[in-house]
Amino acid sequence: MNRLLIKNLAEIATPLGKTALRGKAMNDIKIYKNGAIYCEDGIIKLAGTAEEVLPQLSSGTAVKEIDAHGKCAVPGFVDPHTHFLFGGTRADEFIARLEGVPYMDLLKRGGGIVSTMRQTRVMSEENMYSAGKKILENMLKQGFTTIEGKSGYGLDKNTELKMLRTMKRLQKDLPITLKTTFLGAHAVPPEFAGRSNEFIDFTIEQVFPEIQKEKLAEFCDVFCEKGVFSIAESQKLLLAAKETGMKAKIHADEIVSTGGGGLAADIGAVSADHLLAVTDEDIKKLAGSNTAAVLLPMTAFCMRKQFAPARQMIDTGCIVALASDFNPGSCYSYAAPLILALAVINMHLTINEALTAITLNAAAAVDEADTSGSIEPGKKADILLLSKSDYRFLVYLTGINIVEHVIKNGEIIF
Ligand SMILES: [Zn+2]
Repeated sequence: MNRLLIKNLAEIATPLGKTALRGKAMNDIKIYKNGAIYCEDGIIKLAGTAEEVLPQLSSGTAVKEIDAHGKCAVPGFVDPHTHFLFGGTRADEFIARLEGVPYMDLLKRGGGIVSTMRQTRVMSEENMYSAGKKILENMLKQGFTTIEGKSGYGLDKNTELKMLRTMKRLQKDLPITLKTTFLGAHAVPPEFAGRSNEFIDFTIEQVFPEIQKEKLAEFCDVFCEKGVFSIAESQKLLLAAKETGMKAKIHADEIVSTGGGGLAADIGAVSADHLLAVTDEDIKKLAGSNTAAVLLPMTAFCMRKQFAPARQMIDTGCIVALASDFNPGSCYSYAAPLILALAVINMHLTINEALTAITLNAAAAVDEADTSGSIEPGKKADILLLSKSDYRFLVYLTGINIVEHVIKNGEIIF
């Protein structure tokens, strides 16, 4: 048996529970001073103060010990929204956009999602695998021990399947819990220009059976936005996805309010993501549902947009989670310290709410709250040791990574 004891922790800071926290409960961070955590075979068995934990350990058993003097332990971070597999980059477009070049001109210059699509379609599976592996390893160093990844840069059958198969391989090979999402309806591909409804039918009829056969994706996502996929098309796709066993996610209300957040609540989606333009009415709907509101502050920051109304969502009772939205177009970053800083400084979350949003609630947004997202008995031993003794330094040391050690399934991997 693999036994691990982390002792002499200055503190442990963690939300508690096997389901998401909402409203005032998002502030409930449990602090154990002089903490200790004991794990067996990758699962947390005991967590609390040294006085509580150490007497319960039988002497004489071989235990690997970490002396974490002066450090703070928090749960491994969860990133429930990334597009980490893609061909090429779009630095030119990013810089040009910030210099004021209109979006239509960027498209004429060959930018936008279609440029990523072209480069992803011609990328070999081996190159995709090694690029993805490098990114996931870097995300681990930021403290992400559970990561969701989406397809969505093929916009055709073969490339979408290539992306999902690559994620399946990465799932096996890396010490990360990798959650797979099929986002075939990320945009309308040039082959279906002006025929978004036919593209939805193609996806349901031609691509879903392959995904189901190989069990390639746990979730199905759609870019529900004005001029992309309508509410009716999104609903049709996601209801069909649920019939094949996939759970629903929605890119909702990012640019204008189309009711994507409300649709997510109505169909029992696991999450509604972005929500910059969500209406008051849909915030209430989300608050009355178990759908997590996944907010992506770095995207709003990079696009110079208003942040999602996070304060209103929490105060109304929504399950609020945070994610990176790492992608080559609107947000080429997976910097956990920046996500936390923007959430607290610009979106007015408390530090406790932000910690809950990037751990337990983010785990709920990928249906992992029963196994991840907190430091307590029964959960996976996914633990971060910070170089500081106080978890509030996650934001106080603004934008600086203070994750010193990453423990995944009870193994020190970084
Ligand atoms: Zn996205």
